[in-house]
Amino acid sequence: MNQALHLTGLTESELVEFVESLGEPAYRGRQIFASLHARRLRSFDEMTDLPKNFREKLNELATASTLKVEERYLSSDGTRRYLMKTRDNLPVETVFIPEERRDTICFSSQSGCPLQCDFCLTARLGLLRTLMAGEIVEQIIVALNDAYGVGERTPRGTNLVAVGAGEPFLAFEPLMKALKIMADPKGLHIVPNRVTVSTAGVVPKIIELARIPERPHLAISLAAPTDELRDQLMPINKRWPLDELLTACKEFEKSLRPGERFTFEYVMLDGVNDSEEQARQLANLLNRHDLRAKVNLIPHNPAEPLPYRPTPPERVERFKSILESKGVHAFVRRPRGRDIYAACGQLAARRTTNLNEQLLHKIA
Ligand code: SF4
Repeated sequence: MNQALHLTGLTESELVEFVESLGEPAYRGRQIFASLHARRLRSFDEMTDLPKNFREKLNELATASTLKVEERYLSSDGTRRYLMKTRDNLPVETVFIPEERRDTICFSSQSGCPLQCDFCLTARLGLLRTLMAGEIVEQIIVALNDAYGVGERTPRGTNLVAVGAGEPFLAFEPLMKALKIMADPKGLHIVPNRVTVSTAGVVPKIIELARIPERPHLAISLAAPTDELRDQLMPINKRWPLDELLTACKEFEKSLRPGERFTFEYVMLDGVNDSEEQARQLANLLNRHDLRAKVNLIPHNPAEPLPYRPTPPERVERFKSILESKGVHAFVRRPRGRDIYAACGQLAARRTTNLNEQLLHKIA
């Protein structure tokens, strides 16, 4: 892999140190930081406020961007999916979801994923590599530039969700560094309060996250109300079973701010985890642990060759009403970008071949 230092993965103070090590004044580091993150430039040649000979030196030693956009897909609902490649040619996928109040960017923390959730297409890739901080930040820059133009102001503000490919808590350090870089008001200025990290249940990292003062929100993918079923659907459950996971959630609850709840994601698989009895089991489980949480019900996004179908809408509603009758706040998540394989659990570096061409507009 090309080892040129990726400057998008450095904080402003690290960039200052870097330029000083080259004998340049500190303000050059601040200029580069603003060019990368506020102006969202992806090459040194575009940074014409830097002297030409300094830009040449930067091109020799470092790089402003590493991800190459290979494909872009636009869904009939406005969602965009980007299939990118890292310097070492590994797939990275990012999804931009326009919404009325705020846009959401769903980013990946790993290329592929080592966990083997049975309902998730990404799992079929296995782990290719954990992404670096700069590769995480760059996904956001690419999506914003594509949606609004290079460096253009975003009209609605941006929420980030770490629910793309990978288990974010297995990329804990690069993820936290990326969040720090993105929070800088002199750059992208997307604060952790605008970010949600979704985990399959890496218990020690739930506790660690709770101790971080400026932390993102937490979501936990549950998918089953019993250990027996969760062992099958999410093998990570064998390492950290439900009781341990929910005890960690209870601990995390102490760090919640007023009005903040954490979220359980519950993918709904037809005939597998969506019965009335399972709704009661789920409500009882959460109530037993006395958790200040809400449950997002996510109808499964079908993806060949996964052997699951989405729960029919009436049964989703029935499941929701049983949860609510037992005092559990529940919401149904509307699927976005299904037609371009951009929905939850569908990211697996798919190209167009088996998609409906009527719905697909490749815009690369
Ligand atoms: S659902 Fe998330 S954690 Fe599970 S295999 Fe897919 S990407 Fe990995």
